[in-house]
Amino acid sequence: MRAAFLPFSIPTIGEEEINEVVDSLKSGWITTGPKVKRFEEAFKEYVGAGYAVPLTSATAGLHLTMLALKLKPGDEVITTPMTFAATVSMIVQGGGTPVLADIEPGTLNIDVHAIRRKITPRTRAIVPVHFAGQPCDMDEIFAIASEFGLSVIEDAAHAVGTEYKGARIGSLDSVSVFSFHPIKNITTGEGGMVATNDEQLAEEISLMKFHGMNREAWKRYEASGTPNYDIVMPGFKYNMMDLQAALGLHQLVKLDSFIEKRTLLANFYNEAFCDIEELVTPKEVPYEHRHAWHLYTPLVRIEKLTIDRDSFMAQLKGENIGTGLHFKAIHHHPYYRDTLGIAAGDLPNADYASERILSLPLFPLMKLDDARDVVAAVKTVIARNRR
Ligand SMILES: *Cc1c(COP(=O)(O)O)cnc(C)c1O
Repeated sequence: MRAAFLPFSIPTIGEEEINEVVDSLKSGWITTGPKVKRFEEAFKEYVGAGYAVPLTSATAGLHLTMLALKLKPGDEVITTPMTFAATVSMIVQGGGTPVLADIEPGTLNIDVHAIRRKITPRTRAIVPVHFAGQPCDMDEIFAIASEFGLSVIEDAAHAVGTEYKGARIGSLDSVSVFSFHPIKNITTGEGGMVATNDEQLAEEISLMKFHGMNREAWKRYEASGTPNYDIVMPGFKYNMMDLQAALGLHQLVKLDSFIEKRTLLANFYNEAFCDIEELVTPKEVPYEHRHAWHLYTPLVRIEKLTIDRDSFMAQLKGENIGTGLHFKAIHHHPYYRDTLGIAAGDLPNADYASERILSLPLFPLMKLDDARDVVAAVKTVIARNRR
């Protein structure tokens, strides 16, 4: 057994990030200011979007994007059950009714055929989640959206750097919401970004993110600015700080090298696990893409073991290996079980994955030897509990 505990994820913070934060702290300006503007420009350029709006989190981005849809009671928004609660909770906070469409069993992305089956006259939007950093089949999703006149909002929390048929996520004709939470592919501590080519939508979200104030606060305090401002709608307080952008500016430069390292580790896992019949390794999508490898999520075939997934994770912890759970399916959480009224057996692929999935350690600072320790611990736990 390895001597030290290996966490499931550790952010990669270098001297550049540390110095940039200290620079902000000493500058006299720590909240939204020039570094947020620079990060916005750099991010927009990296993903290839017309507009980008920096925010406090992806949850904030989903909230404002949902509000911009101006849903009426009873309006339905189709999304996946294999996601973080924020995706679905922000549909509710935006005034919509979430409708869950089942996933594909291999990639765990939303199944486009299942989306079609869930469309009703009340459907207004589709929210695909690029699960673990693999792009959903966006051509198919856009085709359904245009056929039925629906909006598309990509939950791109896992997908900074993901590419779909040669195009970066963030550059497509929809709106994408990214997360910079510490476990995501790049971090600003907490933080998020909305990217879109829709100028009007970007302006609306920008206005909502800061009190509905019609000018950027930091410009008011510049020598050329005036302290006066107007409130033109009742807004929120979702603005990213310069302290956060200080991290993001350097994280973004390192993103491609982070993804390379994640890919190397994921390929190592895939090879090490390919002939272990108690594990189902993640399947790649069949079209051209770049996987950002935010997560490595095998399924444990519990029917071949004497223990369940939670005990499997507990025993890995006993071997000094940390794990994550991404995700328990949305309709297995008490609130959504009680409010969504999903019939038993309606989402069989999500039910299957939800009971078997776990996230193994995957982060750029990991060494191949760490990955070897993970593989050894997984094999030990399987051997100990084989049926
Ligand atoms: C992390 C995550 C979010 C929320 O991101 P925050 O920045 O923490 O608000 C939303 N959706 C998915 C799929 C996520 O994994």
